Amino acid sequence: MCGIVGVLGNHQVAPILVEALKRLEYRGYDSAGIATVNAGHLERRRAVGKLVNLSDRLVAEPLSGKAGIGHTRWATHGAPTTLNAHPHKAGPVAVVHNGIVENFKELRTELNALGLTHETDTDTETVALLTQYYMSQGHSPQEAAQKTIARLEGAFALAFLFQGEDDLMIAARKGSPLAIGHGDGEAYVGSDAIALAPLTDKITYLEEGDFAVITRSSIEIYDENGTLANREMRTIAIDAARVDKGGYKHFMAKEIAEQPSVLKNTLSHYQNADASEVELPDHNIDLAHIDRLTMVACGTAFYAALTAKYWFEKIARLPVDVDVASEFRYREPPVSPGTCALFVSQ
Ligand code: GLU
Repeated sequence: MCGIVGVLGNHQVAPILVEALKRLEYRGYDSAGIATVNAGHLERRRAVGKLVNLSDRLVAEPLSGKAGIGHTRWATHGAPTTLNAHPHKAGPVAVVHNGIVENFKELRTELNALGLTHETDTDTETVALLTQYYMSQGHSPQEAAQKTIARLEGAFALAFLFQGEDDLMIAARKGSPLAIGHGDGEAYVGSDAIALAPLTDKITYLEEGDFAVITRSSIEIYDENGTLANREMRTIAIDAARVDKGGYKHFMAKEIAEQPSVLKNTLSHYQNADASEVELPDHNIDLAHIDRLTMVACGTAFYAALTAKYWFEKIARLPVDVDVASEFRYREPPVSPGTCALFVSQ
């Protein structure tokens, strides 16, 4: 899993973007990059490996501008190289993407036939190229992004930035989460509220299929039918301890050391007053009607599911399969009517 940030700010955004990306480091990544618009000019810097490499790159070749997008990549299509790192740029468009564009080969063939050639091995570059194509046909950035997104199959969180547009960011979500942050004369996007924690605690989560047109003074969110939608703004309390390494060298070391306190906190949430029993919340799932449970997850959530398998089998006497999500989606496992599926994610 990887991360997206975007800022329409009133200060130089490059250091803000890098800081925000650091807060998404816990997700893991193989390369990183940012793009900014400065006096209308769209430019980017990218680097393989840790964020410090991107920071070093920015020291050597600074990037100015008060509007920008950033990305930490977990490569799915194309090796983790600087060339394949996001943001991807095509003409007046820069885009960052989490997820997979499943139909990128068809789109790439179509774009190549139109004379738009790709430079990278990524699926994401087709998003930038397609948007560039629609803009070259006279569409506004918003229309071009909307038309592009309508062509995409797969899962994505996307943020776009445009040449000549110092006060415009477009964001879209299908399958991968994306949050919009509300600032004082500023606006942000982020993979989660943690990324945006030092900037704002006022967050609107995009819903499935949402498309957002963001400026410093307005945020318009359209639902999957293109209708203007009213999405709730929430005030999120982020525990500062969650977002840094807390003195540990790696997030993994911190997470391992935290296990006793995490289990204690979680269980105490469900403990009844006399502390002798755990009371689980009501659910409307009748285990008697379930023959089999399939748990689908990635990474740490996958390991958590493996542990849960022991408990479901022992306590509920339910046969359990645990699948890695990235494999599950490409298989066609026979699923009987009595199978229940549980999808676990960070
Ligand atoms: N599929 C894209 C790539 O490989 C995005 C991966 C990601 O979510 O970081 O570049």
